[in-house]
Amino acid sequence: MSMITRRGFFKFLTLTTASTMVVEANNERNETRLLAQKKELLPKTKKQQRVVVVGGGIAGLSVAETIKQNDPDNKIEVIVLERNAQYFACPMSNTLFGEIKEVEEAKIPFQYDYTLAEKNHNIDVIITEVIDADIKKKIITTTLGTIEYDYVVVAPGIDYNYKKLFPIWSQEKIRRATKETPAAMFSDSGKEKQILLNQLQDWKKSGGEGYFVIIPPKGGKVRCKPAPYERACMVSEFIKKYKLPGKVYILDNSPKPQAKGAKFIEIFIKHHKDTLVFNGMSGAEMESRIKKAGFDMSNFMKKENFSELEETLPVCDIKDVDFDKKELAFLYSENVFEEAKKESISYAICNLIPYHRGNKTADLFKVKQDKWGGMLCAPSKTYSVSDSFVYIAGDIMGYHKFSPSAQASSSVGFLTGESIANRILKGKDEIDLTKAGITCFSMVVADPLKAIEISKSIIITQKGVAKAGSTKMSFRDGMGLIGWYQAVVETPFKY
Ligand SMILES: Cc1cc2nc3c(=O)[nH]c(=O)nc-3n(C[C@H](O)[C@H](O)[C@H](O)COP(=O)(O)OP(=O)(O)OC[C@H]3O[C@@H](n4cnc5c(N)ncnc54)[C@H](O)[C@@H]3O)c2cc1C
Repeated sequence: MSMITRRGFFKFLTLTTASTMVVEANNERNETRLLAQKKELLPKTKKQQRVVVVGGGIAGLSVAETIKQNDPDNKIEVIVLERNAQYFACPMSNTLFGEIKEVEEAKIPFQYDYTLAEKNHNIDVIITEVIDADIKKKIITTTLGTIEYDYVVVAPGIDYNYKKLFPIWSQEKIRRATKETPAAMFSDSGKEKQILLNQLQDWKKSGGEGYFVIIPPKGGKVRCKPAPYERACMVSEFIKKYKLPGKVYILDNSPKPQAKGAKFIEIFIKHHKDTLVFNGMSGAEMESRIKKAGFDMSNFMKKENFSELEETLPVCDIKDVDFDKKELAFLYSENVFEEAKKESISYAICNLIPYHRGNKTADLFKVKQDKWGGMLCAPSKTYSVSDSFVYIAGDIMGYHKFSPSAQASSSVGFLTGESIANRILKGKDEIDLTKAGITCFSMVVADPLKAIEISKSIIITQKGVAKAGSTKMSFRDGMGLIGWYQAVVETPFKY
């Protein structure tokens, strides 16, 4: 069967199965689903080794495409299983809140389908959800049927952990949070981001009074730690653009932004003085605290000065949300040493970001995981410590200490794809993780367009843990972020 025919077969299968399920939805939904799951999606041929990739995000596609780039004689079949027909790319998507002119002019799309990835890279993408896995038999079960593999790459991204943030919340209350105060930190199909963007437009129409509150995760391993602060800057740009009376309010249990801390404080003071509040402080209040601590705008960013300043700044610890009254209950401390007191604040819009955890799809593979749900790699490798036929890619990667980011997902993904192809075709099983990179941009000012860039080199410890080595941080022209996005995020979907 040629590749084109195979793809046609998948599309047919997807459509027919989907329509059958819609027709029978009212009476025999579960039965139909169970029957579909027993069907073998596509028998394996003897001619090719098969790699199945779970998750068609930045990591999954980077691995899939690199395998094929290293397979000139088409000896490897690569099949990606992805649950959404449309992928929404998170990096730079916060600029949608700021209506950044340069991003609009560059006609940056944030939604992608898999048509070009399939066409340009000789891979198959099946739109289906992975619901089970048997790594002994090397079989994966999806909502459309089962599929055998020789190697599997698990790249499903993250999930939210609301229960850790609010242990006594009911499922109904969690559901309300996802609908009314969504986190918008998922790639998936961008539904949550759209809810917030619609709320922002409605807010503007109704006069834009009150607070757009952003609550960053309380800590732990988090996808793109600077994202909530970047989002706050972009909402502030929106408020300035439409001269709204309201403000964006960051309610954080950390006394400083949890990533790029001093640089964000500088930006808050210089560019978002009257439109952004951080833990109760306007820009003027932040500046006065800097002076009170004995520093000024030219020296507070120095590492030792900033850690001294940090101890004098307030913290806000979210405790509960009243969705009907649109009110947040939290504990406020004047600084980390002071006793906390109960406070509340009304919100017009709330972006509540709970703890993150590894995507639950990873649990189906029953290999060794860390407490966060990350899948543990073998030392210096990107396959699982408990099964070398199970590779791990993207944010779900454990053992190595890459901060969950698109850049790490893509650069480690390329290396993993190359090493899988070499293992299959040449029997060589090598990977040099020091070739991976971490770069993260945050767009922080609209005019002139400005971003904060952080880049880190990778080192390998004696125990074979890949982690950040030297770090550089600087302000950059925001066009750098647009170029980075086109190179790193768009490439696997478009070229
Ligand atoms: C607002 C925001 C800004 C960001 N900015 C930056 C930035 O500037 N720089 C940077 O480097 N990173 C940034 N990131 C982080 C970056 O988006 C992620 O780290 C990256 O997307 C991780 O890639 P991934 O492939 O591991 O996961 P994802 O991109 O989430 O892909 C996982 C895929 O798996 C699919 N999937 C999950 N479960 C199943 C299943 N059971 N069956 C089938 N498919 C499944 C999902 O639908 C999804 O398509 C940002 C993130 C956010 C939220």
